[in-house]
Amino acid sequence: MAVVFALICRTRSRVPLSEWAAEGGHGRLRVTSKVMTSGSGAAVLTGRTALVTGAASGIGAALTRRLVADGAAVLAVDRDEAGLKTLTGEIPGAQPVVCDLSDLDAVDALPAGVDVLVNNAGLQHVAALPEFDPDRFSLILRVMLEAPFRLVRRILPHMYGRGWGRVINISSVHGLRASPFKAAYVSAKHGLEGLSKVIALEGASHGVTSNCINPAYVRTALVERQIADQARSHGIDENTVIEQIMLTPVAVKRLIEPDEVADLAAVLYGPASASITGSSLSVDGGWTAR
Ligand code: NAD
Repeated sequence: MAVVFALICRTRSRVPLSEWAAEGGHGRLRVTSKVMTSGSGAAVLTGRTALVTGAASGIGAALTRRLVADGAAVLAVDRDEAGLKTLTGEIPGAQPVVCDLSDLDAVDALPAGVDVLVNNAGLQHVAALPEFDPDRFSLILRVMLEAPFRLVRRILPHMYGRGWGRVINISSVHGLRASPFKAAYVSAKHGLEGLSKVIALEGASHGVTSNCINPAYVRTALVERQIADQARSHGIDENTVIEQIMLTPVAVKRLIEPDEVADLAAVLYGPASASITGSSLSVDGGWTAR
């Protein structure tokens, strides 16, 4: 398995992943002012290993920073090797794991000794249904729904063994509401909502919780690409796209920052998290209040 893992998921390991995680993986941990502590005063995730998919950018990078600050050894998984290198250069508590999640054999070779799993990687494709490329549809479902399933089915036995685990699924307002032209993304996110609830029901007696976080538009590369595309296709400037298209459904008239999502995730692994499970927590500026 180790050989397969090394071949399929090229890691820039300073030490073997197993040893690195066992040591806590954060010899040079920087603790931010936000760090959450347990009753003993230790950071709340000390001794825990987290795995974040899509860690190289946007929300995943913010989650990685926050998990390391809270004491976890973080396996930062992404297909973007350069992005991972930059991120983990800044955050010594994070270990880069280069992996394309659309390759499900590669997903099955990722480490399973994980206490906090954050299913975050995602991509968007915008097209009307008659023109929607079936290959893009399959790819989005594979990365955003099948890969989380593959990870969960391998990691849950470890969590059950420790009697504690946290699965955090970065869903979307589009896990709860549809928008036209986003068939694959909306389908994948609605599927992730269902998967999360099943994990919650099966995991409860083992101390494992599972929840979704449902953001509206967050200021990340994924959204910046959409802003630029819409500006081009409508022939309007980017500020007009933000104000007149993206912020129309929300009451709080601004883009959400990635750290706001990471702060909510911290609640889901923090001291008050034991009974929060099977939930979908919106950070959507009021979108779903309508
Ligand atoms: P982003 O584009 O900044 O980051 C996504 C990351 O996923 C990238 O680093 C990318 O390389 C990685 N990724 C994509 N496909 C991959 C693959 N096949 N294998 C490995 N890694 C892959 O986007 P983001 O906005 O930070 O999005 C993170 C998550 O948040 C996504 O699931 C997205 O659906 C969700 N989300 C984003 C917003 C938003 O407005 N930005 C809103 C709601 C939900």
